[in-house]
Amino acid sequence: MTVFKFGGSSVGSPERILGIAELLKEDANSGACRAVICSAFQGVTDQLILMAQEAASPDEHYLERLRELEQRHLDAIRELIPPSGQSPVMGGVKMMLNDLEDVLQGIFLIRELSDRTLDFIMSFGERLSNFTMGRGGSDYTAAILGSALEVEEIVIWTDVDGMLTADPRKVKLAFSQPEVSYEEAMEMSHFGAKVIYPPTLQPAMERKIPIRIKNTLNPGFSGTVLSAIQSGSPYAIKGISSISRISLLRVQGAGMVGMVGVAHRIFGALARGGINIILITQASSEHSVCFAVRPEQAILARELLEAELMMELHSGKVAEIIVENDLSVLAVVGENMRQTPGIAGKVFQALGSNGINISAIAQGSSELNISAVLKSSDEQKALNAIHDAFFFGKRKPLHLYIAGTGLIGKELLRQIHERSGAILKHKGIALQVHGIANSRTMLFDRNGINPGNWEYLLDERGGPMQLDIYIRTISDINLPNSVFIDCTASEKTGEVYDQLIRAGVSVVTANKKANSGNFEHYSRLNRLAADHQVTYAYGTNVGAGLPAVETVRRLVESGDELISVEGVLSGTLSYLFNSFTGETAFSELVKNARSQGYTEPDPRDDLNGMDAARKILILAREAGEQAGPDAVHVGNLLPEAYYAIPTVDEFLEKLPALDAHFEKLRQKAEKAGKVLRYLSRYEKGGGISTGLEEIDARHPAASLKGSDNIIVIRSKEYDKRPLVIMGPGAGAGVTANGILKDVLGI
Ligand code: ADP
Ligand code: MG
Repeated sequence: MTVFKFGGSSVGSPERILGIAELLKEDANSGACRAVICSAFQGVTDQLILMAQEAASPDEHYLERLRELEQRHLDAIRELIPPSGQSPVMGGVKMMLNDLEDVLQGIFLIRELSDRTLDFIMSFGERLSNFTMGRGGSDYTAAILGSALEVEEIVIWTDVDGMLTADPRKVKLAFSQPEVSYEEAMEMSHFGAKVIYPPTLQPAMERKIPIRIKNTLNPGFSGTVLSAIQSGSPYAIKGISSISRISLLRVQGAGMVGMVGVAHRIFGALARGGINIILITQASSEHSVCFAVRPEQAILARELLEAELMMELHSGKVAEIIVENDLSVLAVVGENMRQTPGIAGKVFQALGSNGINISAIAQGSSELNISAVLKSSDEQKALNAIHDAFFFGKRKPLHLYIAGTGLIGKELLRQIHERSGAILKHKGIALQVHGIANSRTMLFDRNGINPGNWEYLLDERGGPMQLDIYIRTISDINLPNSVFIDCTASEKTGEVYDQLIRAGVSVVTANKKANSGNFEHYSRLNRLAADHQVTYAYGTNVGAGLPAVETVRRLVESGDELISVEGVLSGTLSYLFNSFTGETAFSELVKNARSQGYTEPDPRDDLNGMDAARKILILAREAGEQAGPDAVHVGNLLPEAYYAIPTVDEFLEKLPALDAHFEKLRQKAEKAGKVLRYLSRYEKGGGISTGLEEIDARHPAASLKGSDNIIVIRSKEYDKRPLVIMGPGAGAGVTANGILKDVLGI
């Protein structure tokens, strides 16, 4: 014989009830013997409690709820029972509702609601659908009947595939565990896994009757078996659960050290006052005792303690009793934890690297559970971070938010779309885009935005862009391993990195503005990222996809002494002088470069040398130079008057007037057997500069082609022969690829 229990979620609507009827009919054909228990319709118990509280308050609104309840049950009857059979059932239901109305009326008149009366009212939910025992009562009834009847199995039918690794409403990737021990299930449900009502386990455990949790919506699936057997799970933990609203009380004071019996007194007083304690921790210094209670009991708990410890508070032995609200407690549960060292470390690593602070920690003496108290606003992120760390250790999601959909942003999305499958296969990293914004529109989706269809989605579903809201929403969505990717060239975007990093979000940027502005900002971002254990990466700030920034940084970190960095760092200026061989006038080359997309929209932004100056400044900073933008001596290629010309077209018209000047410089270099290159240079102790130079044919930059970049690094180790990095240093393809490399580096 087996007991079947159908929860409120299985009797939430007439369709579901019909589904159960089908399921039971089929089952009956097998000839098996069943006892069947049903809950109140989904949500009805909550409604009944509210009605009773409203009536007692007194608030006539309860009558409206009562009408809704009546309607819902009558509708169900009309839908489920053929017309000929409806009236007797309706009559029964109406009689019951009349009784309920009378009781509520009584409460309304005397303005008082006792526990006993509340239990009675709650019983109407199951009686209206069939049976009673208060909240969680049908789980419990099933277990009691099951053990009294000594059945082979108690089956709890609900709306999920069994006991899952976490609450699926909070952790999307939660999955069903085939076997869970009674103790594990007890811990999980005690800490909030609603799928089974904790006392249910007791009677089943005593008789060693297995409880199976199955899904009414997926009856073919075997679900989860709870039993005394310890299963051989491949994971170090079974699951994570959480209680969303708790308050933390902290009793502290230097005088508590060595005070005999203080814990006994504290908990004695709380027990006498009927306070339910969810979790306790004591610092080993005995300087404080800390425990969690339900928020509705927090004030009473504090009053009880103030009374109990009145003398100690007065004498100062106990300094204060602090109450902290808006907290959640999260419990990591599993029998395997006993044998596996390092679990706690992994939990705290997962929380720390996502910027989540912990208010209190407790480990159950059974070593079956580690629990942590944290801010409620971090709860979902913490659950996901720990879930990822234990269940997807080798398959990590990275949650991406992209700003900027110009050439680079577009190309990045294309590469993500094209390569995410291969990246998942080879590196175990699942790239998921959750936000896309440009200067006009922004779009968010907690479940992910398809990077193959983003333009349409952004158009159709995007809202007006507001940077502060974009940033705030990233924190609100609060997924672990979140990454903000800046593909803009905007100063404003560079100013929000602080805020993101503080919220535990990594930042990958192709935008040079934040790193080449004031030194304090640059160093603060790097420091903040280290403090918050997130990544701040800007490899594409110099040389696009070329490994310039990381090479300089690693060289210095490894203890080598840097002597100098020099190179051609502007793709535009590289192209202009590599192609300036005398056949084509300089002004023509500028126009060609512009029409091929090698320059900024206004070529003067390249010819003023600022872009190259920003890049060499960043490299100098990576080498340890504490320099501001003023420290760079910038070689400007145009006379001042040319910057005053209002439009680009006019500027290009007037540019040929400078051809003779550039041609003269070229010929002079040629006569000396040299070539012109626009070089950027940093010398340790010798300053930072950019400018047009004549270089020797043997100089590594003499052989540059197209718009390639070159970076020449000299150090104590690379002295006679420098370390040279050369290759394409501009363009959407290599830049987007460089961004992706930084993202995967996280
Ligand atoms: P019923 O009405 O069938 O008794 P409940 O709502 O009481 O159903 O319990 C099922 C719900 O418990 C699921 O829909 C799920 O949202 C929630 N839940 C929370 N934690 C877990 C978990 N670890 N495994 C499965 N379900 C969980
Ligand atoms: Mg339930």
